[in-house]
Amino acid sequence: MKRVRCPKCDHYIIFDEKKYTEGQSLIFVCDECKKQFSIRIGKSKLNELQKNENPDEQENKDNFGSIVVIENAFAYKQVLPLKEGDNIIGRRSKGMDIEVPIETNDRNMDRRHCVLNVKRDKQGNVIYTLRDNNSLCGTFLMNELLGDHDRVRIEDGAILTLGATTVILRAAENKDA
Ligand SMILES: [Zn+2]
Repeated sequence: MKRVRCPKCDHYIIFDEKKYTEGQSLIFVCDECKKQFSIRIGKSKLNELQKNENPDEQENKDNFGSIVVIENAFAYKQVLPLKEGDNIIGRRSKGMDIEVPIETNDRNMDRRHCVLNVKRDKQGNVIYTLRDNNSLCGTFLMNELLGDHDRVRIEDGAILTLGATTVILRAAENKDA
């Protein structure tokens, strides 16, 4: 299965590329904004679509770590690098600039769902602190709902649930660990 992004609203559409032959033009109607658009299935297009399907979870280990999005009905697996400071995690939408934009059709994930603060302590270890961002469905850490004022320190492998989507923290490598 492959995906294409609507050029108008950024919603993405999943299709079965095996049904089509190379060189064929496909017409899609975006089920979000109803825009009609077409793409031509060439070899380079298929390669480009395939490229991001097996991202490396450890790729940002030397830096500030990553958020790994588990594949589900709404989204492909994604690895999104974290930065120092506040990282807003949410559903990617056009024109909204956040640090961890998750490409998904999960409507239960807010566009600015929760915030993961990343900083180094005096020893140079990277510290992760999670808080909810007043999201509609709440932020769950290991199946426990975070309260409005909770600020929770999380470690490598922590499992967060945002709407119907599960994400995992892949922490940075600590220097003296
Ligand atoms: Zn659209």
